[in-house]
Amino acid sequence: MAAYTPMIEQYLKIKEANQDAFLLFRLGDFYELFFDDALKAAKELEITLTQRDGGQEKIPMCGVPYHSAERYIKTLIEKGYKVAICEQVEDPKSAKGVVKREVVQVITPGTIMEDSMLNEDENNFIASITPISNDYVVSYVDLSTGESFVSLIESEFKDVLSELYNRPVREIVVPENFNEDEQDQLAHYLNVTISIEVAEHIPGDYEYLVENIDDERLIRGFARVFQYIYHSQKRFLLHLQQVEYIELAQYMKLDLYSKRNLELMESIRDKSKKGTLLSVLDHTATAMGARKLKKWIDRPLLSKSAIEKRHQQVQALMDHFFEREELKEALQDIYDIERLAGRISYGNVNARDLLQLKRSLRALPNIEHILGKIEEDSIQSLLPDLTPYKEIHDLLEKGIAEDPPILITEGGIIKDGYHEQLDEFREASRNGKTWVANLEATERERTGIKSLKIGYNKVFGYYIEITKANLSQVDLSRFERKQTLANAERFITPELKEKERLILEANDKSVNLEYDLFISIRDQMKDYISILQLLADRISQIDVLLSFANISELNNYTKPTIVDEHVIEIEDARHPVVEQVMKEEFVPNSFYLNDNTNILLITGPNMAGKSTYMRQLGLIVIMAQIGCFVPAKSATVPVFDQIFTRIGAADDLVSGQSTFMVEMLESEHAVRQATKQSLILFDEIGRGTSTYDGMALAQSIVEYIHHHIGAKTLFSTHYHELTSLEESLDQLKNVHVEVDEHDGEVVFLHHIQEGKADKSYGVHVAKLANLPDDIIDRANYLLESYEATSTVREQETQSEEQLTLFEEEREVQLTKSVEVIDEIKDANLLNMTPMDAMNLIYQLKKKL
Ligand code: ADP
Repeated sequence: MAAYTPMIEQYLKIKEANQDAFLLFRLGDFYELFFDDALKAAKELEITLTQRDGGQEKIPMCGVPYHSAERYIKTLIEKGYKVAICEQVEDPKSAKGVVKREVVQVITPGTIMEDSMLNEDENNFIASITPISNDYVVSYVDLSTGESFVSLIESEFKDVLSELYNRPVREIVVPENFNEDEQDQLAHYLNVTISIEVAEHIPGDYEYLVENIDDERLIRGFARVFQYIYHSQKRFLLHLQQVEYIELAQYMKLDLYSKRNLELMESIRDKSKKGTLLSVLDHTATAMGARKLKKWIDRPLLSKSAIEKRHQQVQALMDHFFEREELKEALQDIYDIERLAGRISYGNVNARDLLQLKRSLRALPNIEHILGKIEEDSIQSLLPDLTPYKEIHDLLEKGIAEDPPILITEGGIIKDGYHEQLDEFREASRNGKTWVANLEATERERTGIKSLKIGYNKVFGYYIEITKANLSQVDLSRFERKQTLANAERFITPELKEKERLILEANDKSVNLEYDLFISIRDQMKDYISILQLLADRISQIDVLLSFANISELNNYTKPTIVDEHVIEIEDARHPVVEQVMKEEFVPNSFYLNDNTNILLITGPNMAGKSTYMRQLGLIVIMAQIGCFVPAKSATVPVFDQIFTRIGAADDLVSGQSTFMVEMLESEHAVRQATKQSLILFDEIGRGTSTYDGMALAQSIVEYIHHHIGAKTLFSTHYHELTSLEESLDQLKNVHVEVDEHDGEVVFLHHIQEGKADKSYGVHVAKLANLPDDIIDRANYLLESYEATSTVREQETQSEEQLTLFEEEREVQLTKSVEVIDEIKDANLLNMTPMDAMNLIYQLKKKL
C-alpha cells in the first residue's frame, strides 16, 4: 500500500465512515474531493479534474469554492446523492500537524434545510419502512417543517407503496436486510434514494417526541427515521414536533392505482401538476396552504361530521364575499412560518427572516378581525389565542432593524434604543464621523485649498488628500505623508489617527455587540417554535378553506349533502378538470344509484365519454370528502371508505408485466379489498386479452361484485353481450352514451342515457379515423357475421353440450375474425404511414 501524506490519511479515515456520500473536504477556501469521489463529481458537476500529490502517488482531485458550494451541493442532491460536509474544526494557526477535521453534517435528499434547495409549495419528506412480523410501520418526517408522522400498515407491501405514493418523499430509510424485490418497487414507483439505518430506539433526550404513542412497533418505526436524521445532522433537533399517529382507518383509502389513474396531483402523461385535481383546486395564497391542500387531497376524510364541518366553513366563507377578498389580501403578508420555525431551531435565520416573521405576525389581528365578521363559530375559532404572538411581535419590533442586511456579521441589524451600550458605541462612532466630516471644512479654510478632501480606505484608514499642484501652499510639518498617487498626496495627522481609532473601535464593538444581541433574540425565539408551528397549521387551514370557497364560487360548485344511506344522486355533474380545459361546452351528466342499484354497466362507442363519466364520479367523491364543494347542480353522496379504479392501460415496467396482467392485478386488489361502502370504477376490463377470455372475465367480475361486495360500481365495457346481465342481476342497470347517427356518420353527444347502446360503433370510429374503405367494409361484414353467430353460440353454451367438430372449426374462425376487429380497433392510425397500413391489411388478411 502506498504511503499517503498525513492529510490524505486523515481524508481516507473520514471517507471510510462516509462511504455512501460525496465527501466535501474543507481545505482553506475550497471543498475538495479526492479519488473516486473526484472522478464522479467532476463528471456530475462538470468541473475540472486535477491531481494532487498524495505521497507516493498522484491522486485525482477536484474542488468547489467554499462560498459557492451550495449550488454544487444542490446539483448533487437533486441527482439523488448524499453529501458529507467535512470542516476544519480547529484554528489552523494553533493546530499541531494536520488540522483536525470532522464531518459536521451529511446532507441527503430527504434532509435538506436550505431554502434554495426546497420547493416552497411542497413538503420534503424522509420516510422509513420497518417490517415487523407481517406488518409494516411507515414513518415520515419533514425536517424543514418539523412534522413527523407514523402509521401501521397491517397488510401487503402494495399498501405501503400506496401510502407513500403522491407524498413528496425523497428518501426512504430501511433496515439492513430489507427485501430486495420491495426495494426495487420503491425505486420504481417512488423514485427515491434508499438509505439504511439499523438503530430502532429513541435517544433519552428525545423521548418526548413519542410520548403520545404507546405501541412499541410504532416507536421502533419512527426511531429508524429519527436516528438516521440525528446521525446525519449532528445537532440538536429542537423543532421536530411530537410524532403524529395517522390512523389510516380514519381516512379514505386510495390505492396506488387510483391515485395515479384519477390524476389527483400528478398527470399520468408527464407527471406534472397540469391537468390534475390539485391544479384546479389550488388557489392558496401561502406556501403553507399549498402544502396543506396536498395533504388534504391525499387523505379524504371518513367522518361525516368532520366533512360537514369543512363544508360549513366553506359555505360561511362563500357567503362573505368582501371578507373573503380581505382575507386573501391579508394572507399575502404571511411568510412561511412553518419552515422558519425549522430554521430557528437550526440557528440559521437572519435578521431579514425575523423581520418577515414580524410582518407576518402583524397581520394576525387583522385576520382575527376579518374572521370575526363571519358569523360562524367554526370559522371564528380557527385562529389560536393571539397573546403569545403579540409577545414575539413586540420583541422583534423593538430589536430588529427595519432594513437589515442579509449577513448578521456586518451590523445594521439591531434597532437604536434596544440596548444602551450599543447606543453608546453608535454615538461614539457617529461623533467621530461628524468630527472627521467637520475636519474637511476646517482644513480647507485653514489652507485655502478648495479641493482638499478627507477620504477613507480599508488599508490606510482616514486620510487628507491634497493635489500635487496645491502642495506648495501647505505647511507640511503638520502632516505625515501616507500614500502618493499620480497627482495627489495623502496625509494623516495624529489627531485624525486618534479619531479613526475611536471610530473603528466603536464600530467593531458595536458590530460584535449587535451580533451577540441578535443571537440572543434568535435564541429567545426558540422558546416559541411550537407556538409558531401551531399558528402555521391554523393559517394553512384558513388558506385551504378560503381556496375551496373561492374556487367553488368561480367554478359554480355546489355544496354536497352527505347521507348515511347508500345512495348517489348527482344532478348534472361535470368533470372538474376536463371542463376547465375544454374549448366546447362540457356536457353535464347525472348519476342516480339508489339502494337497489349498485352497478351501472356503461356501453357506448370509444371516445363517447365513458371514462370521463367514471372519473368524474371518483373526483366528485374525493372533492366532497376533503371538504370542498363539487361540480354539479346538486349532489347527494354517502361517505365512501375506498375508491378502486381500473382505468386506462398504464404499463407496469418494473415487473415487466403485460397490460393484461396489470389489469388483472388491479382488479384482484379491488375485489379483495372493496366493501359495500367502496366505490369501484372499472373501465373496459378484459380488454387486454382475447375476446372470449376478456368477456368471460368481465362478466364474472361483475357478478362477483354484485353477489359478494355490493359496492357502488361503474363498469364500462365494449362487450355488448354483457348488457343482458341486467336481466339476471337485479342491482345492475344498463346505461349508455348517446350517439347520433346520420347516414353512417357518427356524432358523439357525450350524454349518458338509460338502457344499453345499440351497437359497438368501433368500426364507425375506425371510419372517422379515415381507415381505408376496404378495411371498413370488410370489418362491417365480419361484424355482422359475428353478431349472427354469437346468438347461436350463447344458446350452445347455455345447453352445456360438447362442441362438435364443425362448431369447433367455426369457433376458430370466429376467434380469428374477432381478433382482426380488435386489431383494427387498437391500431394507432395517427402514427401510421401508408406503408404501415398496407402491412397491417396484409397481416390481417393472412389471419383470416
Ligand atoms: P371513452 O372512455 O368512451 O373512450 P372518453 O371518456 O375518453 O371516452 O372521452 C373522449 C373525449 O370526449 C374526451 O377526451 C373529452 O374531450 C370528450 N368528452 C367526454 N365526456 C364529455 C362530456 N361530458 N362533455 C364534453 N366532452 C366530453
